[in-house]
Amino acid sequence: MENTTASGQTRASLAPADVSAFDIRSQRARTERMGVTPLGGGVYEVESQTGHTYSVDLLGSRCTCPDHTFRQVRCKHIRRVAMEVTEGLVPPPGKETVACANCGAETFVEEGADGPHFCETCWLAPGEAVVDRETGDLLIVVRTTARRADEVEITGRDSTVADYPTNEGYRADDAVVEAMYPVPAGLRTADIKPHHLRRYSFPRGRLARRRELADDDQSKLADFAVAE
Ligand SMILES: [Zn+2]
Ligand SMILES: [Zn+2]
Repeated sequence: MENTTASGQTRASLAPADVSAFDIRSQRARTERMGVTPLGGGVYEVESQTGHTYSVDLLGSRCTCPDHTFRQVRCKHIRRVAMEVTEGLVPPPGKETVACANCGAETFVEEGADGPHFCETCWLAPGEAVVDRETGDLLIVVRTTARRADEVEITGRDSTVADYPTNEGYRADDAVVEAMYPVPAGLRTADIKPHHLRRYSFPRGRLARRRELADDDQSKLADFAVAE
């Protein structure tokens, strides 16, 4: 089996893939039944298919199994944890799994970070521009709260966010997002009215990121931008 550099089609160029396919530890790491449980601090408990339990320190690349302890190799448990982290099945070191306060989906957050926690889908960041699905209006997010639409009263109205007529089509237990209408560019301080500074509460589902919008809604947004 001679190496040749004549073309990209040579055996030599395929060799790395072949070698890894025959790497027995990687193969076992991928195919054997193992249970991986994150313990925090970058340590994972791995239960092997023979019922043994080992601890893997991923950042230190250490495992308590005999293969690692006596041969100092990157054993199948370390590899398996690395694979599961890469595939998003378990949190990477420094992160932990929590349930989204709005939809319950599992999401990874910094270890020990204060809640409430939201998944990427539910979380709207302060300052993010969003569109009201009911009116096509552009709004700027103030904050995503963990309070439910049926718990939040609308100031000056005898109604919760959930009971408000235009919110009927949205989940009553949806997280409330506070948002403001953008202050028109060039408005002088003296001309700023209370409604420019008022926060409005919406069920999360009513506010769309621009990329979530269908094409017809996008044209509404374009109209708004021109009118502004
Ligand atoms: Zn091991
Ligand atoms: Zn969510």
